[in-house]
Amino acid sequence: MNKYDVLIVGTGPAGLGAAFGLLEKKPDLSILVIDKNEVSSGGLRNDCKMNFSWPIGFPEVCWDAGTAERYLRRVEDFLLPAIMEKKNVGVYFHRAEKLGVKLLEIRQSHLGTDGGLELIKTLVARLRAAGVEISLGEKMLRYDAAGKTVVTDKREVACGNLVVAPGRGGFAFLQDLMNASGIPYRDNVVDIGVRVETKEERYPIVRDYYDPKFLFPKKTRTFCTNSRSAYVVQEKYGDQASGVWSSVNGHAWSSSRPENGLTNFAILKSVTAPLASGQAYARMLGMQAALLGGGRPIMQRVGDFRLGKRSFAESFSGDLYDFEPTLPSCTPGDIGLSAPAKILNALWNAMKLLDSIVPGLLHPSTIMYYPEIKLYANRPAFLDGHFRAGEGLYLVGDGAGTSRGITAAWASGLRAADGILESL
Ligand SMILES: Cc1cc2nc3c(=O)[nH]c(=O)nc-3n(C[C@H](O)[C@H](O)[C@H](O)COP(=O)(O)OP(=O)(O)OC[C@H]3O[C@@H](n4cnc5c(N)ncnc54)[C@H](O)[C@@H]3O)c2cc1C
Repeated sequence: MNKYDVLIVGTGPAGLGAAFGLLEKKPDLSILVIDKNEVSSGGLRNDCKMNFSWPIGFPEVCWDAGTAERYLRRVEDFLLPAIMEKKNVGVYFHRAEKLGVKLLEIRQSHLGTDGGLELIKTLVARLRAAGVEISLGEKMLRYDAAGKTVVTDKREVACGNLVVAPGRGGFAFLQDLMNASGIPYRDNVVDIGVRVETKEERYPIVRDYYDPKFLFPKKTRTFCTNSRSAYVVQEKYGDQASGVWSSVNGHAWSSSRPENGLTNFAILKSVTAPLASGQAYARMLGMQAALLGGGRPIMQRVGDFRLGKRSFAESFSGDLYDFEPTLPSCTPGDIGLSAPAKILNALWNAMKLLDSIVPGLLHPSTIMYYPEIKLYANRPAFLDGHFRAGEGLYLVGDGAGTSRGITAAWASGLRAADGILESL
């Protein structure tokens, strides 16, 4: 059986942050990184907008501003992002402030889905050149804490330290691992919302500020804005046994691709207490939307929504409806039949406020796609500030609830690496 000083599960930003964090201080460590996908670096493949300001992406239960900013500086020094210039932000800031809305000033870079792939190639080449073994298409199945061995679908591996960073998609896997290893955990917050798609000219702030972060009342916020060459995608969750449901999401290509004149972003409401299980609640909402949409997300034009009417296929062409949805496979319908009133009211209220800050958004042609659901894994009861959940066992990234974005995931990996280095 091969033995490594550190085994890292997941090549997403959390796993990569851990690997580079270890190499920086102890280049002679033997490190194996595995990923169940044949081609991966997790979420770096998705649009790759990176936020370099607290608190974006950092769950405040795991981070304070000082610690996050210290780690963010390290992430930035390593990745050397080209920070995008912002213009005219003061105008929007003041309009927002008058309405009780906060516009956060975030330092951002944007690589796009294709730019992210280039970054991945460079990072993987750097790891390999530094002697890190990377095994793609290898899935972790189990962990034996007593023997410090990991069983994958290919072999058994012994490791002094294990960093598990399986991302949001590995949420069920991580829960099984915590159950099997007797690691206590707590249920987490869930975010439920819509993805809004409109012409860029009706949300022109994106020309001045690529991914503007507005915080509205009732724990509602804008999230993940895409423009220039932007489109909406459908993601599938669950399985036949527990039920399949979908969430929408957004992407954009880098500036090298032709622009399509559209922008999309999510408006999300965080839902916390009093829920026995946030995940189960979100899954039920996803299933309900799938039931109404015949297995697909629902789309509705703002013009129809305002009139309390459902949308039909013909709502997506002609006259006022002057752009085609970028995810046309969605079912035209009535979001109000699926989303709970309290959530929908908060989302619609936020959209109305946003339309007063950036007038034009509520044009009748604007599309609302539902649902956009963000699940965060059950949060382990960590033993220290390095996300250690057992002896030599670190759980990090979106899957473990220590991050909600690329830079915070990378920072989480660095923080776990520091814990390992301290323990050596
Ligand atoms: C469509 C989309 C767009 C996004 N856009 C942005 C954005 O623009 N900016 C931003 O900051 N964030 C964005 N995010 C979120 C971002 O991708 C995540 O916050 C980030 O990738 C989390 O990093 P991670 O390392 O924790 O997990 P991931 O990046 O998800 O990586 C986890 C890796 O672990 C592997 N894995 C899982 N289970 C196992 C197992 N059992 N064995 C082996 N390998 C396993 C997976 O294959 C995966 O490669 C987006 C997410 C999506 C879905």
